[in-house]
Amino acid sequence: MRYNKFSATQLFDGYNFLPSGKVLITSAEGVIIDIVDAENAGDDVQFFDGILSPGFINCHCHLELSHLKSAIPQKTGLVNFVQAVMTNRAADAEIKTDAMQQADAQMYNSGIVAIGDICNTADSLPVKQNSKIRWHNFVEVSGFVEATAEKRLKEMIEVASKLSIANCPLSIVPHAPYSVSKKMFSLINALPNNNLITIHNQESEEENKLYQNKEGNFLELYKNLGIDISSFVPSGKTSLQTWLPYFTNNQRIIAVHNTFTNVKDVDFQIAHCPLPVAYCLCPNANLYIENTLPPIDLLINNNCNIVLGTDSLASNTQLNMLEEIKTIQQQFPQIELQTLLQWATSNGAAALQMNDKFGSFEKGKQPGIVLIAKELESSKRIL
Ligand SMILES: [Zn+2]
Repeated sequence: MRYNKFSATQLFDGYNFLPSGKVLITSAEGVIIDIVDAENAGDDVQFFDGILSPGFINCHCHLELSHLKSAIPQKTGLVNFVQAVMTNRAADAEIKTDAMQQADAQMYNSGIVAIGDICNTADSLPVKQNSKIRWHNFVEVSGFVEATAEKRLKEMIEVASKLSIANCPLSIVPHAPYSVSKKMFSLINALPNNNLITIHNQESEEENKLYQNKEGNFLELYKNLGIDISSFVPSGKTSLQTWLPYFTNNQRIIAVHNTFTNVKDVDFQIAHCPLPVAYCLCPNANLYIENTLPPIDLLINNNCNIVLGTDSLASNTQLNMLEEIKTIQQQFPQIELQTLLQWATSNGAAALQMNDKFGSFEKGKQPGIVLIAKELESSKRIL
């Protein structure tokens, strides 16, 4: 049997930086066999300048929006962003497919091995069928009008059945609290075998205003879209405290963005939800859209389970996990690199329920091996 033997300036195993002098041994295909001391590793050890890490897990992406790179103005707020995406997203199938193929290749080359991907259509199917990345398709349902909930859900179940031939795990999920009616939440909650949920959560303060007092810019959005929300009754609570109790079947939940999540929301989640919610941070998208960042220190202080995502090229200039890490480091320099890498690897793999294969250098896994260059300059897949 042919082995690969890797050593580097630093070896990160998905949880910790290992003491220096360790060698990672894998099969030719990259299955982890062992981590041994250099003196027991024998010959032919390849040394790399930089950090060797398991492949990155991107917990939030929208591959099908890849053609919208640079199409949406920055820092205009979420409501304007949502409207701009709706206006701009139509394009020729060929343009969309080319953009998705490029994004898929760039993500693979930069070390992303698995992705939680939001799907509004089955457009991404041909790209995913030829992709070397492992996908979890989150087929997203929206509809703030109760009367059309069943019809809208049925349409998206059809999209899901088209995507299911890509042989990827799949869930039906709500888009966001401001775009999904209570009725739709209850229909999604009742779906069988739909255990992994993701939702855009508290991406703007307007979402909280809507639920607390039926106020804010979303009322303007509904008006522009001709949506009558006269029957919507505000809960008087924040968004998270309203929607989280709609899930009653022990689903695992990945809450994305959390830009305007506060300490009471986190307390509520911990008290309410025995299974931990994963808080997915997409800092570059938050800066792109709202020019703000989530309360990451608050999430850390409350031992929240944190994972990372890139969001889409509609709200990011690149789909690169290292760039997300660097943005957090700049704003929160007290967070150790080891912690940030845990979010990008083992935490993400567990959140997407792919930790049997990905997220760490543990025996039997095939997590992909990524070289992170000095000073976090760049990352690339080496196996
Ligand atoms: Zn998103």
